[in-house]
Amino acid sequence: MKIADIQCFPLRSDLNRAIGFSQWYYTAKNNCLIKITCEDGTIGWGECYGPSMAIASSVEHHFKPLLIGKNALQNEHLWSHLWRAYHDFNRSGIFMAAISGLDIALWDIKGKALQVPVRTLLGGSDDPIPCYATGMYFRNDKDEPEMLEELLNEATGYLKQGYDFLKVKIGKNIEFDRELVSQFRERFPGTKIAADSNHAYNFKEALDMAQLLESLEYRWFEEPLAPDNYADMARLRQSTTVPIAAGECEQTRFGFERLARAGSLDIYQPDIAYCGGLSEFQKIIAIASAAHADVVPHCWGLKVNQAVAASAISMLPDNPGRFEGRSVYLEMDQTEHPVRDSIFTRAHSIKDGMLHFNDSTGLGVEVDESTLLGYVVKVNQNAQ
Ligand SMILES: [Mg+2]
Repeated sequence: MKIADIQCFPLRSDLNRAIGFSQWYYTAKNNCLIKITCEDGTIGWGECYGPSMAIASSVEHHFKPLLIGKNALQNEHLWSHLWRAYHDFNRSGIFMAAISGLDIALWDIKGKALQVPVRTLLGGSDDPIPCYATGMYFRNDKDEPEMLEELLNEATGYLKQGYDFLKVKIGKNIEFDRELVSQFRERFPGTKIAADSNHAYNFKEALDMAQLLESLEYRWFEEPLAPDNYADMARLRQSTTVPIAAGECEQTRFGFERLARAGSLDIYQPDIAYCGGLSEFQKIIAIASAAHADVVPHCWGLKVNQAVAASAISMLPDNPGRFEGRSVYLEMDQTEHPVRDSIFTRAHSIKDGMLHFNDSTGLGVEVDESTLLGYVVKVNQNAQ
């Protein structure tokens, strides 16, 4: 099962309408897929979360030469090989995002080689996974009252599709944020709702918002503070019953161990396409379990990441668990995404707010490469 070739595809699709969150407005979606081909023709797909051109360069120039000719089934050994070779530089950031995608592709290959789904390799179940609808992004073409009404109507559409859990964006400004979370609770009194500020607040602002979210019975408060502010996240967590969630900016067992040691979080949110791949995710969930924290993977990209996140959720340990258990929901981005919605000829199906696994081996996704090639970023094209 020797690795014969590795290709990395930085992909870009322009959006018809900008979507905003606390830090900026997106006018395009950028993603990064990895294809590993073995000498026997077996193909594995991986996905990286992060700046696509920089990741593609690190794969092409640094990691690909280390993997060609190696046995694809030895994924744990290969992870350590890549980690050690660039240990000085890959402890966080772009290189670890690249390793994440390579690792995911190796898991896809292993599943196909052994003729089982990746969730079976992990010891997970085949049960459908409930999904939460991520949407309600800010718009820069309407004033705030008009935009808020549009966001409430957007959410109504997700509930009609069968979702029973919404995640809204906050972090625009405190006055608008307070109005938004209040109106969402008023309009959807029985619905599970989480709020995500994408690290927009200082401690006092976050405390104010946490108290409001607690009174409105929100399910979690995501990235209330800067990702490096472990101590204030812990202080905030101790001051409220609304669960504090973060982790999409964190990588490796070592990063999450720092969060665990500080007692910063109720919910760990590693992105498998960024945190170090599925191999590293397994070590992170062991740390989360030992810290008595929940794990809800961050997932904001293509259907490879969606498939690997669903496979991971299928085997997550209970914390601590009970007969009438709490479900872990898979994040399902609802925003416009031409690449995600056109390049896959096979993926797990989403129906009535649930992901239903197909019975394919590996990750259960197939890519139409001729369509994919139409989205590959050209040299000198802006990939921000
Ligand atoms: Mg988030």
